[in-house]
Amino acid sequence: MSEQDVFMQGPSGSVAAQETLELMRLHGVPATGANYNVWLTYRLARNPALREALETRISSGERFTAEFNADLYDRFFTGMGASAQIVLAGEQIARDLGQVVAFLKQAEEKSDDYGRALESAATDLNRSVSPDQLRQVVSSLAAATLDMANHNQQLNSQLQKATTEITTLRTSLESVRVESLTDSLTGLSNRRMFDETLRMRIEEAKQQRTELCLLMCDIDHFKRFNDTWGHYTGDQILRFLASALQSHARPDHLVARYGGEEFALVMPRVNLKVAAQVAEVLRAAIQAKRLRRRSTNEDLGQVTVSIGIARLQSGDTPQGLVERADACLYASKRNGRNQVTTDATPVLYVA
Ligand code: GH3
Ligand code: MG
Ligand code: MG
Repeated sequence: MSEQDVFMQGPSGSVAAQETLELMRLHGVPATGANYNVWLTYRLARNPALREALETRISSGERFTAEFNADLYDRFFTGMGASAQIVLAGEQIARDLGQVVAFLKQAEEKSDDYGRALESAATDLNRSVSPDQLRQVVSSLAAATLDMANHNQQLNSQLQKATTEITTLRTSLESVRVESLTDSLTGLSNRRMFDETLRMRIEEAKQQRTELCLLMCDIDHFKRFNDTWGHYTGDQILRFLASALQSHARPDHLVARYGGEEFALVMPRVNLKVAAQVAEVLRAAIQAKRLRRRSTNEDLGQVTVSIGIARLQSGDTPQGLVERADACLYASKRNGRNQVTTDATPVLYVA
């Protein structure tokens, strides 16, 4: 919870809110959500640059026009990263919920009042009453009912607003989470996602006593490629590799960019023989592809990869498995590149 949340929920919170709105009214600033954020930040003295911008405007005597207000919000709020936006959305929700709680308390009192009004009407109606008295009872009953209905309507719209904001916040949180687990160049899972997923899949495989294979794949002589064609074309190759890996993976496999020009494929419920077949098909498909430079259409020649595969063994840690797959990958490199080595390949054990 941010400092502002705590502040806004405390007893002084509604005072700050009221004072902020009053300040805005004084300077002819419409009470929109964006303006409220600007002025609340000013009121809480949390941003010296914002404070200076506002005070310069105030002392110049110029009006707070819609353009100026929008510009202030853009300068101090929308340029922020997604995480900061989420903090703000959270603060807004905290404020809305605070209001909902206040309304609920009032509603409780109101419904007590309403209950009493009904009770007294029932008592009155049980007695024999004159038409005049009857009219009076009915009209006070109508007033109490209307009052209750109005209040419920306000409560409903408050709840609806909070619900909408919570949904938006949840969506933004989800997109930030996905972003933080994705490699921006290739769109594959990144190293963090790889680490998390591998750990989970290893646990599952151990519990369910199923096979699991890890494939590591590294582009051959990629430095030379970058030096010849430039980094931008190098990036294009990385994207091509990503899509080749993805198209050879099953939906329950995880394809990740492990780092630089090295990729990983986590294959649950796949034995070493099948994993080696998948790797061989992948290796051949990459070698067979004629790549062209996007900007000039020049032939880029062949791109090849070296692959290493390790099979999960009892007692393996994620790190141990990665190290074995990596050792196989480097055996492929040592033996001439553009090939697949598994941890059952005899050559690995030859000195
Ligand atoms: P080897 O066959 O032994 O793997 O040789 P290599 O040249 O592929 O390996 P090395 O580790 O020497 O070089 C890796 C290169 O990958 C160096 C670096 O410039 C390049 N690289 C790493 N990340 C990126 C990237 O995001 N984009 C581009 N274009 N190049 C990258
Ligand atoms: Mg390489
Ligand atoms: Mg490498």
